[in-house]
Amino acid sequence: MIRKNLIRLTSELPSDVELVAVSKFHPVERLMEAYRAGQRVFGESRPQELAAKVPQMPADVRWHFIGHLQTNKLKQVLPYASLVQSVDSVRLLEAIDRWGSVNGRVIDVLLELHLGAEDTKQGFPEEEVMAVVEAPRWPHVRLRGLMGMATNTEDAAVVEADFARIETLFHRVRRTFPECAGTFTELSIGMSGDWPLAVRHGATMVRIGTEIFGPREYF
Ligand SMILES: *Cc1c(COP(=O)(O)O)cnc(C)c1O
Repeated sequence: MIRKNLIRLTSELPSDVELVAVSKFHPVERLMEAYRAGQRVFGESRPQELAAKVPQMPADVRWHFIGHLQTNKLKQVLPYASLVQSVDSVRLLEAIDRWGSVNGRVIDVLLELHLGAEDTKQGFPEEEVMAVVEAPRWPHVRLRGLMGMATNTEDAAVVEADFARIETLFHRVRRTFPECAGTFTELSIGMSGDWPLAVRHGATMVRIGTEIFGPREYF
């Protein structure tokens, strides 16, 4: 099942769009099924769950952290994550930079844009993203691009408007700050329901869970 889903998805996705298999809430046996089918990039959203899974999976897995990250949880995430997709505040950037400085690392991150109507959603507003990229003050953080989650709705026009907004900002950043365009290259949008639309809006990375693993289970 998982293998079949991955084969279908990779055949439908343009070859230059990276597929992040969102494996949160799924047990390691299911991740291994995906691994044996060739999947190497996995996305997790809870620090403790990530730290528990890492030693149980092969060393060539690349882990992306995609959930809300509290500054007191960095040591469960930063040693393992090749990309932190969900950086949503300057406070978090500062904390990641401090951790990188202490541990001799530079951490790749995406800035999460506040998209969608839900009040609870994390993320930077547009102008704050521009300010962060304009004057980066974190030598141990590398800004690699933007991440966003569209409004949770069946209304494709609303989702499309969200993707158009983040796509516009992505290009605005790259145009306005050409000196960072070489590293600010990733646009992470699109999940199980909406990834084809995200691809049409320039996604370089999609984060797909349910369409690969089926419904999430607690374990
Ligand atoms: C859970 C999650 C996904 C995957 O959602 P699916 O609908 O299962 O594909 C993508 N992005 C983020 C940030 C998530 O938390």
